[in-house]
Amino acid sequence: MRTLAIDFETANEERRSACAIGLAWIENGAVVRREHRLIRPKEMRFNSHNIRVHGIRPEDVCDKPEFPEVLSEFLPDISGALILAHNAGFDIEVLCATLREYRQLFPEFGFYCTMDISRCLWPELASVSLDSVARHFGIQFQHHDPAEDAFACAQIAIFAAKDLGVSEVFDISTKISIQPGIVGIDSFSPCSVSGISRRARNLKNSPILSSGYLEDALCFSIKGSTGNIYEITARRTANQLRTTCTCQAGQNRTWCKHRTALLDGDVSNLLSENASDIKKLAEWAVGVEVEPRDSPRRVWRHRSSNFGVQGGPNAPTAVEPQESSMQFPVAGKTDADL
Ligand SMILES: [Zn+2]
Repeated sequence: MRTLAIDFETANEERRSACAIGLAWIENGAVVRREHRLIRPKEMRFNSHNIRVHGIRPEDVCDKPEFPEVLSEFLPDISGALILAHNAGFDIEVLCATLREYRQLFPEFGFYCTMDISRCLWPELASVSLDSVARHFGIQFQHHDPAEDAFACAQIAIFAAKDLGVSEVFDISTKISIQPGIVGIDSFSPCSVSGISRRARNLKNSPILSSGYLEDALCFSIKGSTGNIYEITARRTANQLRTTCTCQAGQNRTWCKHRTALLDGDVSNLLSENASDIKKLAEWAVGVEVEPRDSPRRVWRHRSSNFGVQGGPNAPTAVEPQESSMQFPVAGKTDADL
């Protein structure tokens, strides 16, 4: 899966004031490309604190293109990719808030927060700030240059993958209980790591993990009907089987046909090589509530009401996933065009 780290700097305290973007691409376990672009914010208001942090001044960006033009160069890379960011909540909100400022649709992608991953994997670190983690691993970089920050973030993810014995950063989720954040055309859900730390992984044989789940999660990659790849995760507690799917219905915390298929033992769309786990999944489902199939919760909404989430509050128990093409609709297209 295309994987790249992203980092933004902002002109002021507003998330929509992106004034620089940095990106670092990962291929075969190494950073293969770095880019850095300055951005002229719509509102040319620079806060002295922000200038002190990143050193970018109004005169540096006054002749630079605005956000949509800068981003359009990278949208083909971002759309459908796995994006990494350190403290991803900030960078992803900058991306979404600035796009919203220009009435542009969000590209669709999944993301991991390397700060959360660091906290989970290396609990011995006193701080999981970008420079602390980078220093711990001897990563050389110039902090607050966005291309350098993106590079450091990418390197941390590479270290995490190596530490977990997986070759791709994407596969980190097969080893720790991490749910990627998802950005959809008009929606946003945060990345979460549900607290299975290295210590908990070392206690794998213990009947109850420190996370409160009975065993490690079962994770499956499946191919949806339009060719998109989704991740299904199942976790078992004493009386429930909790499941998630990264498809649109799953993002809305409603049930989907992907999970029905797996529970029915249908492996025709299974991409991950763990068909044997299907049997275990079926065993886990016996005699317990399967969430969210058996008692659908209210449709989850992001705390910012500006991030609209598709689906109504009375979503039915079984919802056909609205599979989108994972393509950014059209760069420059506005909500009004829909
Ligand atoms: Zn699904």
